[in-house]
Parts: sequence; structure tokens; C-alpha cells
Amino acid sequence: MAAISRKTSTADQPEVAHERLSALINSMSDGVIAVDEAGRIAAYNGAALNLLNQNAVLDHKKIEDVLKLKDKHSKNAPVLELIRSATKPVSSREYSLSYTDGSIINLYLNIAPVRLGFGRKGSRGHVLLLRDITREKSLEDERDEFISVVSHELRTPVTIAEGNISNALLIAGKTGNLELIRHALKSAHEQVIFLSGLINDLATLSRAERGKLTLEIEPINASDLLSDLRASYEPDAKVKGLWFNIQPSPELEMFKSCKLYVREILQNFITNAIKYTEKGGITLGASPVKDGIEFVVEDTGIGISKSDLDKVWDKFFRSEDYRTRQNSGTGLGLYVTMKLAHLLHAQVDAESELNKGSRFTILIPNLE
Ligand code: ADP
Repeated sequence: MAAISRKTSTADQPEVAHERLSALINSMSDGVIAVDEAGRIAAYNGAALNLLNQNAVLDHKKIEDVLKLKDKHSKNAPVLELIRSATKPVSSREYSLSYTDGSIINLYLNIAPVRLGFGRKGSRGHVLLLRDITREKSLEDERDEFISVVSHELRTPVTIAEGNISNALLIAGKTGNLELIRHALKSAHEQVIFLSGLINDLATLSRAERGKLTLEIEPINASDLLSDLRASYEPDAKVKGLWFNIQPSPELEMFKSCKLYVREILQNFITNAIKYTEKGGITLGASPVKDGIEFVVEDTGIGISKSDLDKVWDKFFRSEDYRTRQNSGTGLGLYVTMKLAHLLHAQVDAESELNKGSRFTILIPNLE
């Protein structure tokens, strides 16, 4: 592989020192390219070749023919101008590098003016340091989006709860009308419950993403679990005038998995089914399958369009459907569900027809 290959002609510079320096620069994981005053490549290391996706010899090539930079607006960046204007070391994380196959990577780019030769007569040039920061960038973008969505999701319920509580205080101080106070406190209470659900989702998500969730495998009685879930959620369904049926298959046996997560997954399916159903109801079923069990949560709700169906498991995804937006939500529930399912080696699936209803299933294998 081509490498820092120039030899110094100066007698005062021992060959061995040069070779050491070459070896050092070639062992770097960052790409290094030295260009002369005319912007022609004078030296480079193996990492630079990798980054540029080149295997040809680059010596004496024009830097602008080799390094096709794009700026943050995806416009071609004037590489030579950038280099020439660097009278002192400058660095940027705003540029990307595009390849002939259309793929793009984000770059950290540092340009420093140097003397390429030795002594006062050494010709001037620049050294470019290039690093692929695509992964870091995408993590940063994800983190920024996360913070902005979460702060927005937190702000709305906090504002509503605060408004209702101050209303209740005001009424208490003036008329003392208990019915109005009760109404305001009820609205505030609903928002606090939503907040606590959101915080739970965030905590589970954070633990799942840091690989901190542990599995406690225990025998689970599926029929009991269905009855428990009905007892917890039938009242919520009734408030909306919906029925809530359970259909445990008569052949159900005990299965072994992590009860906490199985319950959490089913809760997510059930709360969505109740949230996104206006008439009809919800059926929660379970039946044995080879080496495991399948749970089904089916509703007669607003359904999910074909184009949305693939995205429901994505972080923060919420359908644009106005009926979805009438309900509060974070778009985290199914993402967390998928993470938990992964831990259980389970397989989740969703089928749906717009305006007819949805069917979410999870196939859970017996764990040891
Ligand atoms: P959210 O907090 O928005 O409910 P989820 O991750 O649980 O977040 O769900 C993501 C999106 O998937 C919802 O916003 C909704 O658009 C859609 N969705 C999930 N379950 C259902 C369902 N049973 N019926 C219709 N749409 C659903």
C-alpha cells in the first residue's frame, strides 16, 4: 500500500528517523494527507486511502480531484480554497465525503499549515487530518432529537397539570366549589399519570440501551396473566364504552420466561388498543405454540395505514392520523416493547387495516 513515501534528501536527517515517522503515521487510524503549495498531494497514509476509498497512487494528484467534500447543505465544498485559507490550524465537523456509489460519511477535518521540507527553505504546504465520524454524528443527532422530543413531551403535561392545580387553588380561595375543584384536580391527575408512564418508558429504554436489563426467568401461568390484565384494564376500556375479552386457549400450559417483561409488553399492546379504539373492543388471547406461547392483542380501532405499519416499532414514531394525535403518546411504547421482546428472544408482529382494527402478536419461546 502506498504510504508516507517521500524520502528526505537532507543529509542531516537520518533515514531511520524518517522510517520511524512513516511507520508512526501509517499506524494512525486517522487519514493524513500532506499537500504542497499548489495543492498537490505530497504524502499520505494508508488510513487516508481507506477513507478516500482509493487504491491508486495519489502522489502529485490535485487534492480537489481526490477529496470530494460536501458542506452541511450537501453542496460541493471548495477544498483548495479551504486549504489555502488555513493560515493556522482549523478543524470542522461539518463536512462529509461522498463516494461514487452515492454513499456519504461524516468527517472530522483538521487542516494545518506546515513546512513540508526541512529548514527555512522547506516548501510550504498543509497537512489534512481526516476521521470518519459518521457513527458519532448519528448518535449526536439521535441524542438531540431525543432531548427535543422528550422535553416537548414533558412540557405539555406539566403545563396542563400546573394550570389545573392553580385553577383548583384559585377556586378553593374564591367560591370553594368542590365540583369544579374536583374536575381541575382530575385533569391534573391524568397528566401526572401520563408523566409517570413516560418516565417509566424512558427508564426502561435507558436500561435496555445500556444493556442493563436482567432477566428473571420463572414459570408463568398464562391464564392467570390474562385474567390479571383484564382486571387491570377492563375498567379503562369500560370508561370508553369498549368491551374487553380474554380468550385463553384451553390447552394453555405454564411457560417459562420473564414475567415482568412479558407483562410490560402486553400492557403496551393493551393500552394502545384501548387508546386507539373508539368503538367495539379489545380481545386478549393466548395459545400454545411449539416450544413457547403466542399472545395476541386485537382491537376494532382506527387501524394503521400500510405505510405506517413498518414504522410503528421505530423510536418516537407516531402516526400523523389526527385520531392518533387526539391521544397523548410518546412513540416510545412499541420501541421499548421491541427491545424487551429482543431480550426474551421473542418475535413481535403487527397486522392492521385502516378503520377496521389492529392485531399485535408476540411469540415467546420457553426460556431456561
Ligand atoms: P404512542 O405513545 O404514540 O402510543 P407507541 O410506540 O406505543 O407510541 O405506538 C407508536 C404508534 O403506533 C402510535 O402513535 C400509533 O400511531 C400506532 N399504533 C400503535 N398501536 C396501535 C393500535 N392498536 N391501533 C392504531 N395505531 C396504533
